Amino acid sequence: TDLIAGVRPDRLQALASRESRRYGKTRPQTRAALAAGAGAWLAGVPMHWMTDWPMPFPLLVAKAKGARLTDIDGYGLDDFCLGDTGSMFGHSPKPVARAIRKQARLGLTYMLPSEDALEAGRLLTKRFGDFRWQVATTATDANRFALRVARAVTGRPKVLVFNGCYHGTVDEAMVEMRDGKTVARQGLVGQVADLGLTATCVEFNDVAAVEAALQSGEIAAILTEPVLTNSCMVLPEAGFHDALRTLSRRYGALLILDETHTISSGLGGYGRVHSLSPDILVVGKCVAGGMPTAVWGLRPDLAERFAAYNATRPAGHSGMGTTLSGNPMQFACLRATLQDVMTQDAYDRMEKGATRLSAGLARVIDAHRAPWHVVRVGARVEFICAPGPLTNGTQAATAHHPDLEAALHLALLNRGCLIAPFHNMMLISPATRKRQIDRLIAAFDEILTHLFT
Ligand code: PMP
Repeated sequence: TDLIAGVRPDRLQALASRESRRYGKTRPQTRAALAAGAGAWLAGVPMHWMTDWPMPFPLLVAKAKGARLTDIDGYGLDDFCLGDTGSMFGHSPKPVARAIRKQARLGLTYMLPSEDALEAGRLLTKRFGDFRWQVATTATDANRFALRVARAVTGRPKVLVFNGCYHGTVDEAMVEMRDGKTVARQGLVGQVADLGLTATCVEFNDVAAVEAALQSGEIAAILTEPVLTNSCMVLPEAGFHDALRTLSRRYGALLILDETHTISSGLGGYGRVHSLSPDILVVGKCVAGGMPTAVWGLRPDLAERFAAYNATRPAGHSGMGTTLSGNPMQFACLRATLQDVMTQDAYDRMEKGATRLSAGLARVIDAHRAPWHVVRVGARVEFICAPGPLTNGTQAATAHHPDLEAALHLALLNRGCLIAPFHNMMLISPATRKRQIDRLIAAFDEILTHLFT
């Protein structure tokens, strides 16, 4: 029989149905609540992707604190998903909760800055480097606005992205390579415009392809994560980031780093840890401790170019900004996070825990002789059900085994461990305890025992 990532299909099937039954049986209150209340929502969920979790029906969360989450049936879960990075510093960090309580008495949105905004700006520069900052509510928006600026100042139409990337629901980045051409992703809903007109997609780690694309003179900016994190994780090869910087300068394109996930790397993100120098930096999700906030910043020279452009721009909507962005709650939480949560001490603890987790998972994989591997980017750990290392998005897509991953995720959940749904990603927060990590490793071992022996 054909093995799936080394696993016999009958073993996988047996695990999947056993775990599915177990989940259903143990959650009577959740079932009843959903039956009574989910009907008002489109497809029964407030965000359509909530049906993409591997459970037969969604969990309903009662509360979360630190790295623990409790569902309405009373089960406690060790949370390694952490809102897919939004809560990377733990759920409701104390300084953020305090800032929220304080700001709640002072108004929620005014369309004017507060003194916290000024302090947050100073702290952003201290943490990430010399940029001229703007705030948005989602990383999606931050990327969209960054792309507008890049096109405006360069007068060029296209963004260069990497196959397998994800930068939020940014139209231009919703492309993939098919037969060497840049086309809209297959799953896109209601797509009309030809995205090949505004984006060029090449493989990550392919310096020659990057240069060829830049030679067209059409590329306004390269938009990339320092590490491809949104398929199976793909690390940059030695010299890749240097090449992006050198080539983008040579051909007059800007370099945008989206650190929304790689902020896991260490204090100041991957770019600071590895001394990269983007023209535009984007960070979202956890930057205000879980309060919906993203920031994007322009290097001072680019800020000047944009000011010159702006001075001659006809009056009218800029296409940048949303009404609730830049609200005082965001600034209060941004300030609290930068000051008291996103600290070296926090990263030290995250790094230590993540090292323990990745070593433990690798040991289990080894012991079962599974043809799998583990990758880690600071606090972000991923097991990949294929041999490694992966070097580009095409390989990363092939490394995904959706049925196997769904069964594994559900089996982990039934053993009290919640991991991110769209990939095999586990985050370590400063609040994550050693015993939680060890429970996850033990659960992983038990599940691989079912699959492999
Ligand atoms: N950039 C990256 C690298 C991401 O992974 C994501 C979301 N997974 C986004 C941007 C978009 O973030 P949001 O959904 O908060 O807009």
